[in-house]
Amino acid sequence: MKTLYCAIGYVCNEHCRFCPCSEGSVNVPSLTYDEICSTIRRAIEERGVENILLSGGEPTIHPEFFRILEFIKGLNVNISMLTNALRLADEAFAERMFSIIDGPELDVTVAFHSHIPEKHDFLTQHKGSFERSMKGVANMLKHNVRLSIKNNIVNYTYKDLPEYIKWATSVFKDNVTLLLCNIDINGTAASNKSNVAVDFRDSIPYLQQALDIVIEQRKQGHKRNVKVLTTPLCLLDPYYWGFIESSTQENVTAYRVPDSELMWDVSSDSGPLFKACEKCALNRHCPGTWSSFRNNYDESMLKSIVAG
Ligand code: SF4
Repeated sequence: MKTLYCAIGYVCNEHCRFCPCSEGSVNVPSLTYDEICSTIRRAIEERGVENILLSGGEPTIHPEFFRILEFIKGLNVNISMLTNALRLADEAFAERMFSIIDGPELDVTVAFHSHIPEKHDFLTQHKGSFERSMKGVANMLKHNVRLSIKNNIVNYTYKDLPEYIKWATSVFKDNVTLLLCNIDINGTAASNKSNVAVDFRDSIPYLQQALDIVIEQRKQGHKRNVKVLTTPLCLLDPYYWGFIESSTQENVTAYRVPDSELMWDVSSDSGPLFKACEKCALNRHCPGTWSSFRNNYDESMLKSIVAG
C-alpha cells in the first residue's frame, strides 16, 4: 500500500533510551495543522497515497491531534499510527478519538519493551508507563482497532524474549500481531549503547527460542501473526525465515518530518546494505538491518548466501 510517513512532531511524553531521534530533536517545532493537511493532500493527489502513517515523537500529544484525525477521516484513506498509548489511558481522550474514527478503520502499533513493568519503565524513563500503556491499549481494543504490539530487541531485555512472548501471547488475543524488531543505533540510542545495543550473535538464540514458542502455539491451533523485522536472514536459522518481514526494504512513497520538506520515494535507512549483501543470492528478499549496524558491529558477521 502506498504510504505517507508523517512524523507530525518530535515531542514525546516518554524518553526511551533506544530512541533513534537525537536529544535535541524535541526543540524542532512540530508541523502545524496546515502543513500536515497540505502534506497529506499532496501525497494523495500527486502520488496516490492510500495510507497515512502518523508518527512522531508521540502523535497523540500534538495540540491539533483531533483536528488532524477529522481531516484524514474525510479523505477515504487508511490511517495508521505509531503511539505509546499513554494518552489513550484517559477515558475521555479515548472516547473523543473514537467519536472521530471507528476503531476497525485504524491500524495502531504500540511498543511494550518488556513484560516486566519496572523494566519497561526503565527503558521509557517514565514511571508508571507500562500500566498506563496497558490501559490505553485496553481502551483501544474496546473499539476493535487493528493492533500490533512491538518489542524492540535491546541489551537490557533480550534474554527475556521467550518470557516476553509467553506474556504477550497470553495477554493479547490471536488477532493482535506481534512485531520483534532490532533497533537503529542512532540519536539517543547511540548515547545509551550499553543499555540498548546488542550483538545479533547474542540475541538470536533468545529470538529463536521465542519463535519456538510461537511455532508450538501454532501446532495447537493458534493463528497469530508474528513478524521479525530488521534481522538479516544469514544470522537466523532458515527454520525461522518464515517469520522474517522483508517488506521493510520497500520505499516510503511520501515522507515528511518536522525538519524537512515533503519528499518522495524515500528509501529506508535499513536493508541489505552491506558488503556481503552485494553478492548474496537473497538480497532481494532479505530485510538486512539498519545502516547504523556497520558503525557498531563487525560487518564480517554477515555471510553471503550462495544459490544452489
Ligand atoms: S548477506 Fe546481506 S542480503 Fe544476504 S542474508 Fe545476510 S544480510 Fe541478508
